[in-house]
Amino acid sequence: MRDTLHDQENTDERKQRTTMENRIMIPQYILKILERFHGAGYEAFVAGGAVRDALSGEPPQDFDLCTSALPSETAALFSDHKVIETGILHGTVTVMADGHPVEVTTYRSDGRYSDGRHPDQVRFVSSLREDLARRDFTVNAMAWSPETGVIDYFGGREDLRRGILRCVGEPETRFSEDGLRIMRALRFLSVKSYQPDPLTREAMFRCSGMLQKVAYERIDAELLRFLTTERTAALLDEYREIFAVLIPELAPMFDFDQKSPYHNRDVWHHTLAAVDFIRPDPQLRMTMLLHDVAKPVVYVEDENGRGHFKGHQQKGSETADRILRRMRFPNTFREEIVTLVREHDLKLYADRPLLRRCLNRLGETTLRKLLEVQMADASGKYEKYMTGTRNRIGEVRILLDRIVEEGDCVSLSSLAVDGGDLLRAGIPAGKTVGDILSWLLEAVMEDRIPNKKEQLLQAARERAGLGIKE
Ligand code: ATP
Ligand code: MG
Repeated sequence: MRDTLHDQENTDERKQRTTMENRIMIPQYILKILERFHGAGYEAFVAGGAVRDALSGEPPQDFDLCTSALPSETAALFSDHKVIETGILHGTVTVMADGHPVEVTTYRSDGRYSDGRHPDQVRFVSSLREDLARRDFTVNAMAWSPETGVIDYFGGREDLRRGILRCVGEPETRFSEDGLRIMRALRFLSVKSYQPDPLTREAMFRCSGMLQKVAYERIDAELLRFLTTERTAALLDEYREIFAVLIPELAPMFDFDQKSPYHNRDVWHHTLAAVDFIRPDPQLRMTMLLHDVAKPVVYVEDENGRGHFKGHQQKGSETADRILRRMRFPNTFREEIVTLVREHDLKLYADRPLLRRCLNRLGETTLRKLLEVQMADASGKYEKYMTGTRNRIGEVRILLDRIVEEGDCVSLSSLAVDGGDLLRAGIPAGKTVGDILSWLLEAVMEDRIPNKKEQLLQAARERAGLGIKE
């Protein structure tokens, strides 16, 4: 009988059970987890970002679940799965389902985050409503299950429809509990193109000091996402006072008149134009944000009233290094930015020896990024400088491609001799060997000696004062 009923079930209804609003398919592994919770008498829902994304027709990145079951109960219920006790004190366990990690969090309500990292006390609560009330924004505070459909206590769906970002509850209270929510708000404005509700917006400014209490590791993740959209530059400008709380070194750039014949914008707006121009890669965006950070510090005005910024590249790279260390960004991310800021004005033109030396010193990846940085930098100046730069960079790229394709020797590893060869040729062991190898590499990159073993050995002997041996 049940089967027959099932067969006769309206297909739309069946669709409703496995899709959210008939739009986004909920994966089977999620439905199975929800079913198991329900079968055991617990409540369980998809909550947060996945509901928001599904309702706006975007495929969710991951499906976070919330449940009335305690973490230990969840672990017991899924004892036949791999279960990782991700943050058992905060109520989260990760259930591995068909190879997908699914975070399952017990209904909870958070207190303050006075260490900027974790809520002081997490209280498990019994109702979905309380759990949704602790969430940051109305669009993130909805839940869904196949039985109930979308549950929306705070008007999230309407806000989503209108593209409004609004705190759940009193904005100032919510931002004061956890300053990270301000950075999350900026991330959502950037990535989702929402508009902030006026009260939420005002509270972001009023509570910006709270950002100083937040652990950088939490901020970084949101900031990197913030940096990668076409709204980044405009939002950096609109919320610049907030970003100056996060990175006080930015503030001197605001309204800083360059008094320069190259520039039609102040340092900050030149910076924003460059951020906007460069491809939305977080590292490149961060590079442009910081590339002129030391200009106000090194500024000198000459007798004609013209501004000069000698040494801002080196000084800026030191400042960038300090900022990125303080913010605990990974070393590899930081180091390349520091190099790009230091080298951003490097004179690059289509000259084979020059480009080989740059390849040797910077590596191909960084050199190619530097070309992007220079294009972006030029885009923030008077239009006439752009054409020249575009042509120059275009020629550099063509020659660079050729150098790479033809496998020019740009490092010791591709030199046709090594230390052993030099020793065998009679060069005395010790520092001389290394010095001569570097000298040979220079000579090869400058086309003074061909990268051929015999010729290199001969030049090495001469260099070492050994004369020409038979
Ligand atoms: P994404 O789709 O980009 O992952 P998300 O909204 O899912 O966005 P997460 O960081 O995965 O973001 O957080 C999951 C959910 O947890 C959010 O939707 C929100 O309901 C809640 N949340 C996350 N961080 C906070 C916070 N700092 N304060 C309050 N609620 C939060
Ligand atoms: Mg998420």
